Amino acid sequence: MPETIELTSPSGTVKIRPDQKLSLFTTFRIGGPAQFMARVTDESQAEAALEWAEQMDLPVTSIGGGSNLLVDDAGIQGLVLAVRTTGKDAETRVRVEEDDHQVRIWVPAQMPISRLGHLSAERGWTGLVWCAGLPGVVGGAVVNNAGAHGGEMIDQLETIDVIRLADRKIESWPAEKLNAAYRYTVLKHAPRPRDVVVLGATFVLPRGDAEELVKQAKEFSAWRKQAQPTGACAGSVFTNPDGSYAGYLIDKAGLKGTTVGGVKISELHGNFMVNSGEATAEDVRQMIALIQDEVYRQFEVRLVPEIEQVGGK
Ligand SMILES: Cc1cc2nc3c(=O)[nH]c(=O)nc-3n(C[C@H](O)[C@H](O)[C@H](O)COP(=O)(O)OP(=O)(O)OC[C@H]3O[C@@H](n4cnc5c(N)ncnc54)[C@H](O)[C@@H]3O)c2cc1C
Repeated sequence: MPETIELTSPSGTVKIRPDQKLSLFTTFRIGGPAQFMARVTDESQAEAALEWAEQMDLPVTSIGGGSNLLVDDAGIQGLVLAVRTTGKDAETRVRVEEDDHQVRIWVPAQMPISRLGHLSAERGWTGLVWCAGLPGVVGGAVVNNAGAHGGEMIDQLETIDVIRLADRKIESWPAEKLNAAYRYTVLKHAPRPRDVVVLGATFVLPRGDAEELVKQAKEFSAWRKQAQPTGACAGSVFTNPDGSYAGYLIDKAGLKGTTVGGVKISELHGNFMVNSGEATAEDVRQMIALIQDEVYRQFEVRLVPEIEQVGGK
């Protein structure tokens, strides 16, 4: 097996590791190997890794918390760039500008969004409390325009910082450029390999009552624990169709508890599939097709996956 390659960058060594099991980097615990994988924490490390990938003529796939991904059993060819660190490290990188009415915060892409929700509540900043309890990190959440409890990333987003793969230049994009809608952005729907890696995001947050916000954040976290399964999963598999809920339709179709190979539709929430330990990406794809066919047969509604399939030979 080829050995780990070490690159130098102004902020430290970047390790490019061959043949890394991606099941360890996705909340579904599914996925074959990354041909190469690098974890980066800032723009200089991203630049070093991207320059190496260009020299090696390898495509680049960015991942965050891996909580909205179905990685193929064959893994991902090229370089998988994981923009992630410990939550504690990410928090030390947050930059804050405050005045009497509002706060402008710059948050690194690797900041866990749940921590962002709790942190903003503790500081008395409104607009992001819905993030409390959500898996994933800011980079992935921005790409997916994640949302819950009536809020979405785009609501408070002012700009994102990206590094372009073509020339490794840093750009600041106004939020409007994402053309965000329900679980949609132009970045999420761009063909792979994609042109940019998200490095950070700036949010503008009005001031609110910290005590009330902390209470709300705790309620949101607690709600997730009782309404959603705790096993290996990737959250909601399908987006909600207009005027209904995917979980409701799957439940009404009598599909809760159905298994295909190692994957099972949660008894607790019809839109969640849980990996019993041995599930493959192929099991999940078959389950997606089974659900789509049955829900269409019974209700004439075509469910659209929210999770992203990535990788393959
Ligand atoms: C139990 C559970 C509950 C969930 N509940 C919700 C919910 O209520 N609402 C909701 O919206 N989602 C939910 N999700 C899905 C998921 O948590 C969110 O969509 C989350 O924001 C994805 O973030 P991530 O870091 O895991 O992204 P990933 O899954 O790693 O990646 C998502 C997308 O972003 C891209 N990407 C990631 N990082 C970068 C980067 N730095 N630069 C460029 N592209 C990047 C990836 O290529 C991919 O296209 C849930 C998931 C789980 C497991």
